[in-house]
Amino acid sequence: MNDRYLEFTHSSFGKSLAAMIGLPTPPRLKRADGPWESQPLDGKPVLVGSSRGATLVGPLLSALSGAGATLRIVPEHSGLAPLKEAAAAQRVTVHGNPAEGAGEPRNHAVVFDASGLSSPAQLRELYDFVQPVLRGIAANGRILLLSRAPESLQDVAAKTASTALRGFIRSLGKEVGKNGTTANLIEVPTGADEAIDPVLRFFLTPHSAYISGQVLPLAAPQTRGVALPGSLEGKIALVTGAARGIGASIAETLAREGVKVIGMDHPSAEGGLGETMAKIGGVGLALDVTAPDAASRIAAEVGKNFGGLDIVVHNAGITRDKMLRNMPAHFWDMVLNINLGAILKINEGLLKEGFRDGARVVCISSIGGIGGNAGQTNYGATKAGVIGYVDAMASTFARRGGAINAVAPGFIETAMTAAMPFGPREVGRRINSLSQGGLPQDIAEAVTFFASPAASAVNGRTLRVCGQNFFGQ
Ligand code: NDP
Repeated sequence: MNDRYLEFTHSSFGKSLAAMIGLPTPPRLKRADGPWESQPLDGKPVLVGSSRGATLVGPLLSALSGAGATLRIVPEHSGLAPLKEAAAAQRVTVHGNPAEGAGEPRNHAVVFDASGLSSPAQLRELYDFVQPVLRGIAANGRILLLSRAPESLQDVAAKTASTALRGFIRSLGKEVGKNGTTANLIEVPTGADEAIDPVLRFFLTPHSAYISGQVLPLAAPQTRGVALPGSLEGKIALVTGAARGIGASIAETLAREGVKVIGMDHPSAEGGLGETMAKIGGVGLALDVTAPDAASRIAAEVGKNFGGLDIVVHNAGITRDKMLRNMPAHFWDMVLNINLGAILKINEGLLKEGFRDGARVVCISSIGGIGGNAGQTNYGATKAGVIGYVDAMASTFARRGGAINAVAPGFIETAMTAAMPFGPREVGRRINSLSQGGLPQDIAEAVTFFASPAASAVNGRTLRVCGQNFFGQ
């Protein structure tokens, strides 16, 4: 659905009116317009910093220079020693951060390696690095922190400092969104240092335009050395609810990366499914996710034509809203069966027959399962259940060399949200750090990243793609 307010505030009259009466002007987000590139940061200035004792600077510099970034530093920053050593060892050229007004391009991204923080007092190094450079970040810029997850640290002071970063990034995200800039934190366990390369390529590029204020903890990677571009070429994916909305966009984005997609939808949506599949050279499967034989029919279809599934995206979902006191049992049952029960049953069946080794599964949750909504006890229960489910199943998929994760969308412009009454719809759209709803593509980009074997250090996680919706965060 068209966001008329955003369009209005970008017209010359709307811009002046908004400025005059102090209305917010949602930024125009820069989204990806093609597949993953080998040098997505080609020539873009990225300002890099580190805390004293930082241990991720080596892989950080090699990932950034491999992605084509022009690296800048603030030479006088106190925590810079590890960074300078790594740059010298890798023979990577770093430039001084130009003074504001010097006519040089603004920084596309600011990246800080906070893995060396050993006490709350050392957080001052983060302030000293980030505070003076905030004004020099370009529109649609990126702020990214790297740290060691607090859960992996024994020392009380280090654990405290590492946890402090979570509050820092959530607060900073709320400050910088006005011009489309996002701020996120990646927590890297020791042993997963090299796995930051594909993660940086996702979080520092337009593929992550609607993700801000998030903390993504990594795990030990299942596969090493898989580059993001080309990693999905020739894979076979099943996407449920693929006829329209988010599911159709997921199917299109996977196909963009070379995936053969089997789009599945309710038999009543066969027309829309056929159109979507025709566009991407996919195969339609008209099948209700709650059919008792859904898993065996999927396995039969896939086995016959493709040999097995590398990726499954459980996207099909419905709402049947009513306050619990008025909710009929069939509203409860339908939502529970489609949004949650079907995911468990289909995976159970495919784990016996249908998944290839290394299979990666992505489930669609919702921030409604995190913050809760009056009138959505059924929906909220299913979407929270999904979060618990991917956590519980992570080791099962890891043993087979794969992974299972969830994406929790915020307010996304689809038929589901277009059906909301005007007031709640307008509020839902604006209450986030980017002051606008997301597009189906935003969810599709995150799902496609999780579907890649290059993201093998992400397992059992739920990533909110919600423009940092203030709901539940
Ligand atoms: P839509 O209603 O636009 O699309 C959902 C698709 O799933 C439809 O094609 C629908 O087919 C299909 N579907 C429904 N039930 C079944 C079934 N039993 N078997 C097979 N297919 C079925 O939804 P969205 O694109 O907006 O949402 C996609 C997912 O994202 C859902 O899981 C939703 O809960 C989640 N989500 C969406 C948000 C948003 O803001 N839009 C926010 C948070 C989460 P049919 O036409 O027959 O109903």
